[in-house]
Amino acid sequence: MLSDDAIIDLSRVVATREALKLIPAAQSRRLGVLPLAVNDDKLYVVTSDNDDYLLLTQIENIVGLPVIILKAKHPEHVPSYIKKYYPESAGELSGTPLGLLEEVVLRAMLYRSSDIHLDPEHEHGIIRFRIDGLMQVDQTLPIDSMNELISAVKVSSGLNIAEHRIPQDGQISLFVAGDEISMRVATIPTIYGEKMTMRILSTENTLAELSELDTLGMSEQHLQLLLETLDNANGVILLSGPTGSGKTTTLYAALRRLKKSGTLHILSIEDPVEIPLNGINQVRIDSDRINFNRALRSTLRHDPDVIMIGEIRDAETADIAIKSSLTGHLVLSTLHANDSIGVVTRLLNLGVAAELVNSALRLVIAQRLVRSPCPHCVRYEPPEDIDREFFGWINDNNLYVPKPTGCPLCNNSGYAGRLGLYEMIKIDRKIRELIRNNANEDALANHIFNTCNLPTLKLDGIEKIKKGLTTPAEVRRVTFLGTN
Ligand SMILES: [Zn+2]
Repeated sequence: MLSDDAIIDLSRVVATREALKLIPAAQSRRLGVLPLAVNDDKLYVVTSDNDDYLLLTQIENIVGLPVIILKAKHPEHVPSYIKKYYPESAGELSGTPLGLLEEVVLRAMLYRSSDIHLDPEHEHGIIRFRIDGLMQVDQTLPIDSMNELISAVKVSSGLNIAEHRIPQDGQISLFVAGDEISMRVATIPTIYGEKMTMRILSTENTLAELSELDTLGMSEQHLQLLLETLDNANGVILLSGPTGSGKTTTLYAALRRLKKSGTLHILSIEDPVEIPLNGINQVRIDSDRINFNRALRSTLRHDPDVIMIGEIRDAETADIAIKSSLTGHLVLSTLHANDSIGVVTRLLNLGVAAELVNSALRLVIAQRLVRSPCPHCVRYEPPEDIDREFFGWINDNNLYVPKPTGCPLCNNSGYAGRLGLYEMIKIDRKIRELIRNNANEDALANHIFNTCNLPTLKLDGIEKIKKGLTTPAEVRRVTFLGTN
């Protein structure tokens, strides 16, 4: 399943615990060898020097198994990954619940998980990660160790350790492999005991590779359209998509791009602030003391060039957002709608006058996140019947599409990494005319997708399937019925 000539991109694979146990930390550091996976009784590793063939016997002597050295895409990054997988501090804390916590958080970060779940069951506890939006089991623990772990987190996050019967919320920060990781912690009693969920609050550093507009997966055509609109510096840009579709990441990437000019005052109003960004004034809404609209009005007195509003939820916010864009500000926000045309109709349904929508709205974006197949085990096969029908490939006999398979490097999920699918509408003269004349969604859709030549979410998905960037099952999952 794992081919010997694979080239390993360490940012997309995760070393297995089984493999890490085979080479002690000191040896790994000394030799510059990172063990990745055990497969067919062979250990697969990468090294900091792709051409050092003398290493092979040295490693085989340590592990007592045949060893396959895979080529690393960036061998010079191997030492920093060795540091991450074998954190220095693990020594003092190892064997304690906090040592275990550190180890679990480190692995969750390496897997790019958004949440860690500590779930008590009848006789044992299960640690689960949410990875790329889906839950995966990390490990099973004796129930006593699980309870000790939960108690240790409760102490460190300021919760009442004696209280097990009511839900509690708190926050914890810890240093893991040199990065400070903050997590929101919540407990709830279940029939087998207290369950804990930890949401990893990302920082600009931990998300660095995700936060540029040109690494989100936008097609060249979409990227150019968005960049042109951002450069125009006034009007409203709205994003829509279900929870977990990557809207915040896109908004933040846009803000970071605007920030680069160095001459813009950027202010954001968020509930809550998801990622602290350098150089941007982020205002957190605390619904008990300051509400969204009041914050938005005060914001205008601070003379921002760009205002980011976390989400437009009601008519009043929509109204202030639109009107402030008309006085020369660039406003970025999100709005709940199934697709890009739905955004326009939702604004009108919120009671914003058609003429205001027409003068303010510049660009509407709908987006979804799909998983990418693992490059080490993906196979290409003719599409299944359900996909031939869904994507209109009935008579396409020469088509091969990626099929996820599963190998040790992707935790057998068949997937590694994610990218966005996008649909964008540039609000032009013809669309303004349709909006002014109360055209319905069908008429708008007809004009946009037949004459503007911009891909819909599904067409963008088809392009990305054909490039091997995602699978038919993923595109079907996120575009079926246009919503999740
Ligand atoms: Zn794989």
